Amino acid sequence: MHFTTKDLLQQFNTAWLPGNLQAAMLRLDRIHPLVQGNKWFKLQRNLEAAGSRPVVTFGGPWSNHLHATAAACKLLGLPVTGIVRGEAPAVPSQTLRDAAGLGMHILHVPRELYDALKKGDVTRAPLDLLPLLESACIIPEGGGNEAGAEGCEDILELGDFSPYTHVLCAVGTGTTLAGLINGAGKRGLRAEIWGISALKGAFSLDDEIRGLLKGEMVEWEVLHDYHEGGFAKVTPELITEMNDFFRQTCIPTDRVYTGKMVLAFRKLAAAGEFPPGSKILLIHTGGLQGNASLPQGSLHF
Ligand SMILES: *Cc1c(COP(=O)(O)O)cnc(C)c1O
Repeated sequence: MHFTTKDLLQQFNTAWLPGNLQAAMLRLDRIHPLVQGNKWFKLQRNLEAAGSRPVVTFGGPWSNHLHATAAACKLLGLPVTGIVRGEAPAVPSQTLRDAAGLGMHILHVPRELYDALKKGDVTRAPLDLLPLLESACIIPEGGGNEAGAEGCEDILELGDFSPYTHVLCAVGTGTTLAGLINGAGKRGLRAEIWGISALKGAFSLDDEIRGLLKGEMVEWEVLHDYHEGGFAKVTPELITEMNDFFRQTCIPTDRVYTGKMVLAFRKLAAAGEFPPGSKILLIHTGGLQGNASLPQGSLHF
């Protein structure tokens, strides 16, 4: 697969950024038109391990992971099944329509069965699904495993990030953050790595991330106060921020993760959380396809 690695780093300025701070966005949303953002990095080792086996993975109706897996498997010519949480709605989400269009076989299952299958418990799996589950390469929901974290170490190979004092990244499962921490440690970077949790009160994330670390060689922290009401919740302030940020920087963000990271960055900067002279690298983890779930006209980009 061909990915752009040049021109991914975009310095930006905004009216609210204090003059004594510098900021840049690592535009992983631009590495590939379909396989965007951190999801490619989480998938790469997992798909290498698949060989020529069919792939099975899991997600909700608006999952960026399902979308990216569908696209990556199409590019690699691998058959793929997406097991989707919950009964099929009358009108499928844009994400699932796209994924099906890319060749993913979509299988809706009730929540309880979904939770069991996700954990590898096939005792209640439909009989016709068993042969596939037994032969397939199973990638967990969100690509959240060790192979996923390892792939994310490569994000910090896209440039020379030694000048940065802080790295900010949105957090769902924490797999990407763990990869960034390991990658920074491996390269001897001095930046502190801050994760902005997109979930409300998901304090177990800290331990889950710790479980993926190869040694804590850089300082890191998950910030739990910037979820804007909870996972996938949207506030008027968030939408205003996303539009305002795009107007000032031409950088589009997504409603679930990167928009909240930018809003958190703005609030942290205003609160003086970055010492003067700090250079902050924000990781754009992609996810723009999910904005199709907003009412039309919400976003001006
Ligand atoms: C999935 C996703 C994340 C979260 O990544 P984790 O590795 O699960 O923490 C962040 N940003 C975007 C845009 C995503 O799609």
